Amino acid sequence: MRIIMLGAPGAGKGTQAKKIAAKYSIPHISTGDIFRANIKNGTELGKKAKTYMDQGLLVPDELVVDLVVDRVNQDDCANGYVLDGFPRTIPQAEALDKALMEMGQSIDYAINVEVPDENIVQRMSGRRACVNCGATYHIVYAPTKKENVCDTCEGELILRDDDKPETVQKRLNVYHEQTQPLIDYYTEKNKLVEVDGTIDIEKVFDAIVKILGE
Ligand code: ADP
Ligand code: AMP
Repeated sequence: MRIIMLGAPGAGKGTQAKKIAAKYSIPHISTGDIFRANIKNGTELGKKAKTYMDQGLLVPDELVVDLVVDRVNQDDCANGYVLDGFPRTIPQAEALDKALMEMGQSIDYAINVEVPDENIVQRMSGRRACVNCGATYHIVYAPTKKENVCDTCEGELILRDDDKPETVQKRLNVYHEQTQPLIDYYTEKNKLVEVDGTIDIEKVFDAIVKILGE
């Protein structure tokens, strides 16, 4: 099953993608996580990506597309994958479609997790990420057992720089301008399915499983 997660920053794409990956035994591919790992390791790609990410801007398409195309060609993707945070622009979607076509494949579902802008800033200011393993929590909606300590690896939790309210507003604008057009793109291809992302994390997941099947 080849799945794309669509939705505003903070809509819950990563949260649901991890659950999908676990239930259907497919890899979770997050371009944001890949960039953050590169930043942490001080790679050239990480240095380039950071200048855009810190400003709430998208990393240029040419730095993202090859990376994802290489990743979906790896052996562990043979039975599918869930893409989280990619594509984010029409050229990225077209490049993915072209690469898949050359492999005789296509996307099965683009799942749009719908959350209005009003809820997003509050969501993002409460998001906490583990500096060590990248696990994501929320201080109210998905708290850790011990305050500020990752449940999985006991790493320290931080508020991502790009989750500060001034950057979130910019990321929302970028989302509406560059990423929202993908909703029409996948609707026209009959791939779009929508779920309400404002309800409980488990209820959102139930709605997704209803679509994807048990
Ligand atoms: P995205 O990957 O779309 O940027 P995340 O999955 O990281 O978003 O979710 C953003 C924040 O909102 C996280 O702190 C997460 O724990 C929380 N969250 C995710 N889904 C829900 C939900 N349905 N209700 C409340 N909070 C949620
Ligand atoms: P995310 O973790 O998905 O919220 O992504 C964090 C940041 O990484 C984004 O705000 C962008 O700067 C960058 N990024 C992640 N995925 C992409 C992509 N597909 N295209 C361009 N930039 C991306």
